[in-house]
Formats: sequence, C-alpha cells, structure tokens
Amino acid sequence: MAANNSKYSSTRYHDPSQREFFSFEEVVLKGLASDGGLFHPHEVPNVGSKYLEWRDLSFPDLAYQIIRLYVDDHEISNDELKTLVDRSYSTFRHPDTVPLVTLDESKNLHLLELFHGPTFAFKDVALQFLGNLFEFFLVRKNQNLKPGEPRHHLTVIGATSGDTGSAAIYGLRGKKDVSIFIMFPDGKVSPVQEAQMTTVLDPNVHCLSVQGTFDDCQDYVKALFADPDMNKIHHLAAVNSINWARILAQITYYFYAYFQLLKKNPELTKAKFVVPTGNFGDILAGYYALRMGLPVAKLIVATNENDILHRFWQTGSYSKKPKPAGEPHGGIKEDGAQAHEAGVKETYSPAMDILVSSNFERLLWHLSLEHELEVNPDVKFEETVRVAGGKINGWFQELKNTGSFTVDGQISDKARAIFSTYRVSNPETLEAIRECYRGKAISTKGYVLDPHSAIGVAASLREISAAGQTDVPTVSLATAHPAKFAGAVELALQEEKSFDFSSVLPEQFVGLGEKERKVVQVSSKEGLPGIRQIITREVQQEKEVRQNGV
Ligand SMILES: *Cc1c(COP(=O)(O)O)cnc(C)c1O
Repeated sequence: MAANNSKYSSTRYHDPSQREFFSFEEVVLKGLASDGGLFHPHEVPNVGSKYLEWRDLSFPDLAYQIIRLYVDDHEISNDELKTLVDRSYSTFRHPDTVPLVTLDESKNLHLLELFHGPTFAFKDVALQFLGNLFEFFLVRKNQNLKPGEPRHHLTVIGATSGDTGSAAIYGLRGKKDVSIFIMFPDGKVSPVQEAQMTTVLDPNVHCLSVQGTFDDCQDYVKALFADPDMNKIHHLAAVNSINWARILAQITYYFYAYFQLLKKNPELTKAKFVVPTGNFGDILAGYYALRMGLPVAKLIVATNENDILHRFWQTGSYSKKPKPAGEPHGGIKEDGAQAHEAGVKETYSPAMDILVSSNFERLLWHLSLEHELEVNPDVKFEETVRVAGGKINGWFQELKNTGSFTVDGQISDKARAIFSTYRVSNPETLEAIRECYRGKAISTKGYVLDPHSAIGVAASLREISAAGQTDVPTVSLATAHPAKFAGAVELALQEEKSFDFSSVLPEQFVGLGEKERKVVQVSSKEGLPGIRQIITREVQQEKEVRQNGV
C-alpha cells in the first residue's frame, strides 16, 4: 500500500465519480491531469528535524533521500532510484553540482549557482532527471513484451523560443525508446541557443526550424496533442515545467544550499531564498522544502515586468493584464504558460516572460486545503480535499472566462506570511548586472550575472535593505550562465573597460557555431501536415536503425 506522499491527485479534483489517485509513473508520463489540473502529492512529507541527518550528503545522495519520500519503492526500487539520480547529476561540471558563492559577507548575501549542467541553465537540474525517468519507465514496459508485440515508444514534442528546448534536448538525447521533437521559430532564437539545440546529433533528437512565430510553433504542438491518431500512434508526451518530476528534482538544492550555509555558520537557524520567477516551478520547490521541514524564513518571488505574481501578492487578485483594444489574441508562451502577444512584454530575461504562471495553481491548492482544514476542522479529510479542489477548479474556470480571479482574504494572507515579491524592470536589470560587476552593489568585484540571476540579486538587495538585519542569510538563485544571454550582458557592461565577453565564455561554447548541425526546415506552406509527416518519418527511421542493431 502506497503511503500518502507517494500518491498523487489533481489540483482540480472535486467530482467523486472521477478517479482521485495516480501513481508517480502516471503523473510523470501524463504531465497534466485530464481535468486540466496539475498533479500534487496527496500529502507533503514533513521530516521534522531529521533533515539535519542529511547535512553532509553529496548532492546526488541528498537528491536520492528527498525523491525517495515521494516515490513508492514498489514503483522504483532503492537501487533503481539511486542509479537514476546518480546518472542525472553525473553530467554536471562542478564537484558541488550547485555551488554556493558568497557575494557580500557583510550583507550575508549568497548566490546559488544552478547553471553547471550540460546547457548552462537551472532547468538541467530537473530535465536531466526527467529524461532518465522517461527512459526508465519505457525500458521497463518493454522488458516483458510478448514475441511480436511492438515496443512501447514515447514521442516528446515541444515548442521553444530558446530556453527550454536545449535543456529538454540534453535531458533526452540518446535515451532508449524515446524521441524528442523541438520546434522553434526560424531565425528568431538567439544564435547560441539555436546552436546548442541543433548541434546535438543523436538519432532520437529532432529540431524543426519552423517558418513563423513562437506562437505558431506552440499552436502546432497543441494541434498535435489534440490529434487522436497522432497520440495513438506516437504516444505524445511533454516535458514542460508543470511536470511534477521537475518540481521534485528542484527541492534538493534548497536543502543543499542550506547545508552549505550551515557549514559556514553552525549557529544558523533560518535562511531566505530569492528566486527569479516565471512559471513558478523553481520557487514552488522551495515551498515544498519549507513544508518538509527546512527552516525557510521567507521565499521571495522576483519578477520582471511580466508581474502577474507581484500583483497577486499586492492585491489578492490573479489577473492577466487587460489587453489593449484592437490587439490580436496570442497563443501559449514557452513552457505552457498562456500568453497574449499583446499581454506579454519582451524583456532582457526571456525565460521569465509569461502572462500567467502555471505552477502557481499548485501553491493555491495547498493554501486552500490548509484554509479549509482550519475553518472546517470537523469535516472529513477527503471531503475537505474535494472542497479545496472545487475552489481551484472554479477559480481557473473564471480565469479562462474573465481573465482574472480573486482568492479569499485568508488565503492571500497565508501566501503573504510565507512569500514576498519584488518586480524588477528592464533598466533595473541592466543596472544590477553593472553595479554588481563594478562591486558597488555588492562587495565582490567582477562577478558577471546573467539577466535572470540579476533580477534575483536586485530583489535580494531590496529585501536586505528593507529587512535591515543580516543574521538571516539571503540566498539568491542564479538560474543561467551569463554566456547564454550575451546581448543583455554586453549591453549592461559596454562601458566597462575591464570587461571582455570572451572571459565568461565557457569552452563548450567556443566554436559551437561551426559545428555540424541537424535541423529540418518547415515552411509555412508545409505547416501542420508537413510536421506530422516529419514526425512519422523520423520515428520510423529511428525504429529501423534500432532493428538493424546499429
Ligand atoms: C525557466 C527559467 C526561469 C523561471 O523559472 P520558473 O520555474 O519558470 O519560475 C528563470 N531563469 C531562467 C534562466 C530560466 O530558464
């Protein structure tokens, strides 16, 4: 019998005639629940002070301990999970996997560098693990095939404007029984990001350079998922940031950062975390860490000018910005968040350019449940769960119909007790890069932040000056390597005589532009039928290659 924390439900579950529980494998392979909700663990395991026993573990060993609590050992054995986790983090370049760097001793400000994975962005922490999980489940399904039965095969499709695509490709390259197709708008992703994606030559990786916009790519992905034939033949799957396994993998680094601080200061009792936020996946993992028992003093949401979350914390209303009259409707933004072309602002931190923040629904579910348990303590737990799910379902229908909803005051108060938010504008982002480099905003000189991490540091500095005390350390999460966002970094540092971009260029990026590429062009004339044909043809070719034992 699975423990409650290895059972999963949908945030919108409210109808007892529907199925309530799902296994970890189902949750990982399905991604999104069929009622439109997101999967969450039925209970969050609170380890109390036992987490301190983990303080000397390596990052992979710590990841194993944490993930183990959320996955029943009948689904994945101890040995299997250990192997999966070790393989996922063996691709990181730094011995600490996610090192903690002190930016300013007197301000007690530290930076958690999450960008030492294969694509130099924090998404690797989650997608390296997710790729291995997909492969594990597929290979297992294929172990007990009867003679003549076709192999199970998964086809991951996604659209990217740059950031998610490469991390997903590196997570899935070379995996057995899984293919990945990533579409990007032709000529509209940055040269580094395009090169990162298209120079991966593994037979199971397919890049489609699509004539059109990012929204066109996203519309193709939606149309493919809505196509029953496509789904039946190819078993489509997504790897976007709502996948529970991604959140799960990210919990580890909150603990790991805390333990690194504890080594510096054995008296440590609490820490704050500041997170550059888009789809709310990264910071949600921090919320789970807190719920598990990690002494988190505060979680701080740092947004760019796409500030729906910042506005929620100020007003209790979750509201898309009103669309200026006469503007066309847009589609869905990177990583599954919805976007109106008119509503989303293009900023220097494109991975945070969202109109709505998809993982926020999970936080609201947990806060609503807590609220219901408080106001109706005598109602049975199952009933309370249903009421909370009904509320979430209602709010998100309202969001769809009217563009906004407002939560109960007690629920927004709960959110304010744990989180605060700062909004960092485009000019403030560049200023943060510059002032940190100059050693003016922080005592360290010469550190080059990428524009996403700069938003976190700008928010951290505001929080530190507002709080006025320094015994609680502030950990700012660095989500990308500066070399990935050369444009904004060079703009910020153009007047710095001592700065030379080649000094931050990792050896992996040198000569990337000249490497052999594999990419299929799709014209707007070929469109969706063309893409369907490409997927069918390429998957068939892969199968033949495999059968011939190559
Ligand atoms: C995806 C991403 C973010 C935002 O993370 P969320 O989990 O969507 O909040 C921030 N910075 C970078 C570099 C990213 O790629």
